[in-house]
Amino acid sequence: MTSQFQALLIEKNEAGEQRVDIRQMGEDALPDGDVTVQIEWSSLNYKDALAITGRGPIVRQFPMVPGIDFAGTVVRSTDPAVSPGDKVVLNGWGVGEKHWGGLAGRARVRADWLVPLPDGLSTRQAMAIGTAGYTAMLCVMALEHGGIQPNTGPIAVSGASGGVGSIAVMLLSRLSYTVEAITGRSEESAYLTALGAASILPRDEFTQPGKPLARARWAGAVDVAGGRVLANLCAGMSPGGVVTACGLAAGMDFPATVAPFILRGVSLIGIDSVYCQRERRIIAWNRLAELLDPHLLDTMTTAIPLADVSAVAGDLMDGRIRGRVIVNTGTEV
Ligand code: NDP
Repeated sequence: MTSQFQALLIEKNEAGEQRVDIRQMGEDALPDGDVTVQIEWSSLNYKDALAITGRGPIVRQFPMVPGIDFAGTVVRSTDPAVSPGDKVVLNGWGVGEKHWGGLAGRARVRADWLVPLPDGLSTRQAMAIGTAGYTAMLCVMALEHGGIQPNTGPIAVSGASGGVGSIAVMLLSRLSYTVEAITGRSEESAYLTALGAASILPRDEFTQPGKPLARARWAGAVDVAGGRVLANLCAGMSPGGVVTACGLAAGMDFPATVAPFILRGVSLIGIDSVYCQRERRIIAWNRLAELLDPHLLDTMTTAIPLADVSAVAGDLMDGRIRGRVIVNTGTEV
């Protein structure tokens, strides 16, 4: 008999209506793959919230177990590179979109999608970081690759109270950058200052149409918003500045001009965590393990059971969640 576990399942009926329930299932229900993992923690990212609430076309086939990341222990493997007992982390690769994901007690995936859990990190901490934190690290690595050093100038971070933003603020501050945190929630100023923000900028300043070129204020930016926020960040870069664009919390559009790029030599770097090559993932995860302050990570993390995921996904979509949400999937029965 295979192990039984609980999983969140998204189904769609013939009328196109979506339904999300917790189901008990056995390993024989899992999709094909080389490695079966007992998931200890998953997390709730923006993309998961879009999928669970049905507010964005994330799920490519139904039924689907959502959850774009997880951390746990390998229980079975047919790939010699991965052994039972190994602690592993997974982000992306279409998991939770095209292939059953992490909001379940078990998952079956391809061996080369897994990254070894870095030394010094627990599976809980790995998911407190999650795809949001790993994406923040990819943004920081892109700034470094673009030649932006702590003494080059300040770095703006949009959506600073959210998952990617909170970890970007913490990482950049730990690396001695001066961080200017952009937020729509002034009540989170003390939280952002505790994470290392040197100043707090109201989101409203960035949501109106701006000039093609504005006062040169920043050496770099981590943008989770897109839309006018991204356009205004580009316009406010110093010569040679680097903007990393990873999100669309404000929208998919990009109402900008080429002025910052051709008159100030600004670079706009796109960040894709989902299909990022494995070597780069391993570097990012090892740097996260070195850099993150476990106490600060705890202050930005809320742990919930699988049963609360649907409700909290709605709160996340409505901008009511601060920092990261991790999900205890230890529901094997
Ligand atoms: P969260 O919901 O945790 O954070 C998003 C934050 O954006 C909110 O907390 C809020 O911060 C801010 N925000 C919300 N609405 C708006 C708006 N209309 N205009 C400007 N800012 C807004 O999500 P995550 O941090 O998990 O993800 C952020 C974005 O990054 C998402 O779009 C997500 O899809 C994307 N992403 C992309 C990845 C990639 O591989 N490229 C990987 C991971 C995430 P505040 O209240 O402080 O302003």
